[in-house]
Amino acid sequence: IQGYLKPEFDEKGELSSITGYAQDITILKAGEQKLQNKNAELLRSNEELEQFAYVASHDLKEPLRMVSSYTQLLSKKMEDKLDEEGREFVKYAVEGAKRMSALIDDLLEYSRVGRTEIRLEKVNCNNIIKEVLHQLRYKIVACNADIQYGDMPEVNALPSCLVQLFQNLLSNALKFRSEQPPIIRLNAVLEGNEYIFSISDNGIGIEERYFDRIFAIFQRLHDKNTFEGTGIGLAVCKKIVEVHGGRIWVESKVGKGSTFYFSIGC
Ligand code: ADP
Repeated sequence: IQGYLKPEFDEKGELSSITGYAQDITILKAGEQKLQNKNAELLRSNEELEQFAYVASHDLKEPLRMVSSYTQLLSKKMEDKLDEEGREFVKYAVEGAKRMSALIDDLLEYSRVGRTEIRLEKVNCNNIIKEVLHQLRYKIVACNADIQYGDMPEVNALPSCLVQLFQNLLSNALKFRSEQPPIIRLNAVLEGNEYIFSISDNGIGIEERYFDRIFAIFQRLHDKNTFEGTGIGLAVCKKIVEVHGGRIWVESKVGKGSTFYFSIGC
């Protein structure tokens, strides 16, 4: 039994009331144990699910390669023998196989994040951003984007993860642009022992009701013909940030652009 009791006495010194509480803590302890068991179960099933996603996507690659190669061969070698409709069917089959291959690659990438131990090291974000901008240089020039950032800090992270994180967020800022050329700003503000990074754009924006959903795997707000993509980029960002002990979120207004924020320790 756990609790406290407060007796009160009247002026004659006689007990007038007792206030307080007393509780049988065996019930509390049993509840705590149940919660711990449920937590362990959840962790185990999460790990199993990740393992399943990895194995499934890895094993799917081989048969898909076969479908992909033979449909491509069919379209090249049999082109004259097929009529208009036949050529169209083969074209759809080739496109479908390509899209499935992109989905599997992204799924594999998603399940790879955090599979190996994350060895944190001091990383200079200026170098990371320079590398990402170099990788995206053709896309940047093609849409005449204006990207600016000040001096970026050092953080504790795995460099390859940071490259991926900035690359996904910057690619999205370029991709989901409005009619105007993209204006993208990167910033970092120290808050306690972490930096809050922000990547803002002047793109199409996102409705508030989708702010959480876009970080889930395979969630997209547009069809593949309007904006290409697989819907895994932000899920990968979320996983990267979370394995580093941080958070990621978005603020946006439709037609006014979006700002993605994430925190990372320094
Ligand atoms: P993908 O880019 O492959 O569609 P993501 O997971 O990177 O997948 O993004 C999920 C969805 O979130 C996108 O399809 C898009 O609707 C929305 N989104 C992401 N970044 C932005 C952005 N900068 N501006 C507007 N919408 C965005």
